[in-house]
Amino acid sequence: RVVQLLGPAEIRDLAELLDVTPTKKLGQNFVIDANTVRRIVRVAEVAAGDVVLEIGPGLGSLTLGLLEAKASVVAVEIDGRLAAQLPATVEHQAPEAADRLTVVHQDALTVETLPADPVRLVANLPYNVSVPVLLHLLQRLPGLESGVVMVQAEVGHRLAAGPGSKVYGSPSVKAAWYGTWRTAGQVSRQVFWPVPNVDSVLVAFQRHEQPGDEELRRRVFRVVDAAFGQRRKMLRQSLSGVFGDSAAASAALEAAGLPATARGEELTVQQFAALGRLTPAVST
Ligand code: SAM
Repeated sequence: RVVQLLGPAEIRDLAELLDVTPTKKLGQNFVIDANTVRRIVRVAEVAAGDVVLEIGPGLGSLTLGLLEAKASVVAVEIDGRLAAQLPATVEHQAPEAADRLTVVHQDALTVETLPADPVRLVANLPYNVSVPVLLHLLQRLPGLESGVVMVQAEVGHRLAAGPGSKVYGSPSVKAAWYGTWRTAGQVSRQVFWPVPNVDSVLVAFQRHEQPGDEELRRRVFRVVDAAFGQRRKMLRQSLSGVFGDSAAASAALEAAGLPATARGEELTVQQFAALGRLTPAVST
C-alpha cells in the first residue's frame, strides 16, 4: 500500500518521540485501529478529490485514512506539537500524499476562513467542545455540505434527536437549523489510546437549506436557549424574558399557531423559527 495507516505501535512511538502525554483538557484520545479509521472514511463516503476538513488530527490516524481515500485534507489542530509533527508523519507514512495535506495550527472555535474550501467534515472531535465546534463550523463555512464525526455517545444521540425524545434539547434544535443528522454506528472504547471513560458514536449530517438568514438564526437560537434553559416550564413562562413578559410570550405562541401550554421539547426547528421571527430584533 502507498499509505501506511497507524497502529498501536506507531502511535506509541510517535507519542514517545514527541514526548506527548495525552491531555483530557484537549480531549486527546488517539485512534490506534486502522479498521476503525477505514470505517469512518467509508461511512463518510469520502471520494477521490474531495476537500475534507479534519478538526483535531492529533497524531494523524484519521488524516492518513482520508489521504488513502485520495482526498485533500485541511487539518486544524490546536496543539502545536501535534500540528508541527503531522507533515513529517504523512511524509513518512504516505509520501505520495504529502502534497494533499494542509495543516492549520489553530483553535477550531476561532476558524473564520481556511486555505481551501472544504465540502466535508470528517473528524474524531475533541469531546469537551464537540457541539460548539460543529455549530461554529456550520455557521462560518457555508460550503460545508456534509460530514461524519465521532463524538461522545450522549452528544451524538442529542444531535440526532427529534421533538418528543427525552434527549431533545438545544443542541438538537441548533443542529437541525443547519441540516439533518443521524447516528451512524457505535465505536468501541478499545480503539483509542488512552481508553476513554465514555462511549463513542459516529454521527452523520447533511446540510439543508436553512430556515432563515444569520439575523434570524441569532433570534431563533436566543429563543431556543431560553426555552431549554428552563426545560420544565411552559414556553409562555420560559420565553417571557425574550418577548418582554408572559402575556407577550403567550401572544407570540398564538401568533405562531402554537398551543398556550406548549413546551420547548415538543417544538420542531420550524416552529422555533416561527417564534424567532416574532421576537424583537437583537443587536450583536
Ligand atoms: N484525529 C485524531 C485521532 O483520531 O486519533 C485525534 C482525535 S482526539 C479525540 C482530538 C484532537 O483534537 C486532539 O488532537 C486535540 O489536540 C485536538 N483539539 C482539541 N481541542 C481542539 C480545538 N479547540 N481545535 C482544534 N483541535 C483541537
